[in-house]
Amino acid sequence: MELRHILAVFLKATLIGTVLLASWIFNVYFHELGHFAVAGFLNLNPELHLEGAVNGLAFAMNGEPIAWVAYSGLSTKLQDIYVTLAGPLANLLLSAALGITYFIIPKKKVWQTHKLTK
Ligand SMILES: [Zn+2]
Repeated sequence: MELRHILAVFLKATLIGTVLLASWIFNVYFHELGHFAVAGFLNLNPELHLEGAVNGLAFAMNGEPIAWVAYSGLSTKLQDIYVTLAGPLANLLLSAALGITYFIIPKKKVWQTHKLTK
């Protein structure tokens, strides 16, 4: 294997890893934003805590949360359930939006063109 091939594999792995990591962090932030929005809507005085990407990685490796929502307002059991469900619901809505976008955006045949010209 030539050096340039090894470099290409290394760059590709780095790019994929970076995109996956950024997607994961964005998903966690979006999830917490769901909790925060519903807690705010219910007047529970929520606070949103987000660690930056670099800190977040260190926190995650120590098993600590990289983002969380705390609220100081008094809540009923039902309100707690709404706030709890809002996080996963935010991720579901995001995945639905991305899925719909994927099917709506017309596909430019970038990959095929690349293969043909090679
Ligand atoms: Zn959650």
